[in-house]
Amino acid sequence: MTIAAPTVTQVANYINGQWRESSASEWLDVTNPATGEVIARTPQSGAAEVAAAIDAAAAAFPEWRRTPPEDRIQPLFKLKVLLEDHLDDIARIITQENGKTFTEAKAEMRRAIENVEVACGIPMMMQGYNLEDVARGIDEMMIRQPLGVVAAISPFNFPGMIPFWFLPYAVAIGNTLVVKPSERVPLTMRFAFELLEKTGLPRGVVNLVNGGKVAVDTILDHPKVRAVSFVGSTAVAKYVYARAAASGKRAQCQGGAKNHVIVLPDADMRMATQIITDSAFGCAGQRCLAVSVAVTIGEAQKTFRDSIAEAASKLRVGNGLDEGVQMGPVVTRQSKARIESMIGAGEKQGAKVLLDGRNARIPNYEAGNFVKPTILDCVPATSDLADTEIFGPVLSLIHANDMDEALAFLERSAYGNQASLFTSSGSAARRFRYEAPAGNIGINIGVAAPMAYFPFSGWKDSFFGTLHAQGRDAIEFYTDKKVVVERWAKEHSRKF
Ligand code: NAD
Repeated sequence: MTIAAPTVTQVANYINGQWRESSASEWLDVTNPATGEVIARTPQSGAAEVAAAIDAAAAAFPEWRRTPPEDRIQPLFKLKVLLEDHLDDIARIITQENGKTFTEAKAEMRRAIENVEVACGIPMMMQGYNLEDVARGIDEMMIRQPLGVVAAISPFNFPGMIPFWFLPYAVAIGNTLVVKPSERVPLTMRFAFELLEKTGLPRGVVNLVNGGKVAVDTILDHPKVRAVSFVGSTAVAKYVYARAAASGKRAQCQGGAKNHVIVLPDADMRMATQIITDSAFGCAGQRCLAVSVAVTIGEAQKTFRDSIAEAASKLRVGNGLDEGVQMGPVVTRQSKARIESMIGAGEKQGAKVLLDGRNARIPNYEAGNFVKPTILDCVPATSDLADTEIFGPVLSLIHANDMDEALAFLERSAYGNQASLFTSSGSAARRFRYEAPAGNIGINIGVAAPMAYFPFSGWKDSFFGTLHAQGRDAIEFYTDKKVVVERWAKEHSRKF
């Protein structure tokens, strides 16, 4: 695949149906993580620009909520077709600004499209319920109504998919929306909004603002924003949750992760190796569902260690747009430095470096942020490495004597995004499903990503809130319930 010459784009905001150049005084360079080239500049939009987007959404709300659900979903059908038609274009942009491979970027967009498809079922999913004669001649009903202006704040690692965990449902339900993507990857949403512009959505229904902390704080404090959906690191998720609550908003905040997989000796070791290799090193380990600690039991210690080290060492690392590349770079130079320093710290705390991905040199991409697959063996269960989210292509191996001990490792983790088990035993699988302290469980699955019609169920420090993204939770989150109790006197009905 040929790479187009880079052009530096000044990313604009999309407010009230118009692209508006930002008046920001600060701009952030966006670099292609594989080449090190600056490809865009993100404005750090100020409070007034963000408030303008919120005002536009608020002005669009009364008419949009009166639009019948059947009409509200028509732009989403158009969006699905546009996203399908431009799948390669949008995936190429994702690879250029995020670094993941072209194949991974396309898979990400399939998940985005899936959410658009599911939200098209809103006329059914948004229905309330009712009962006649709760008392003689009195009927009662529950109606769902949209909230008003809602906002979605997203991270760098899925620039296409994550905003679509929220946008299709929010809009189909009759809310109006402000999206604030990660300032490190602004081009994907910019392209998605160019497509949204062609769907016939009335102006102000969807708005895009670029920026960082000031933009987020403006959203969190603004009285017209009713609900905030956030995905990012735990520290920021906690902050957003608290600040949103302080101004009376509902919030769903997905945070960081440290995902464990337990490998039992009766697992199909070939399958386990292949799937865990993809989970740990796919997207260069920058997935919130990436396995980052493998806990082996019994003989699996040796068999799994040998097979995963061999599989990981064979992965072809490079520019995600090049044919045959299986793993791309990490997002920034700072991420590479942080990951490499954590590997060093782990080594000092007693881990053995089985496969060392530090100081990677990729021919023709010397300026890229590459860290090759890294495996650390005998990681002390109490070391920082075992507890801290690395968010890079690093897999730690820990050995446990039995399932009790393995589950205890999971219990002591602050996070609860995902836990997986590889086994051929139904009863071990059932016990794991029952006891594992995480919201997304994989049985012989490496990335237990819920489909759009199931909630993305993080637990513990991986999620703050009650209602998750996607599925029925999305309908609950983006609606207010109104209960009506109704009586009509009989004589009125006799008149007609
Ligand atoms: P991040 O927390 O740095 O940024 C996320 C968003 O928060 C961005 O839009 C950013 O502009 C904003 N932000 C950053 N600092 C802020 C601050 N001090 N105040 C207000 N807003 C701020 O996260 P990231 O590095 O972009 O993404 C990686 C993290 O996201 C990882 O921890 C990963 O596990 C997590 N993640 C979680 C899930 C999940 O479903 N639980 C999914 C994807 C990513």
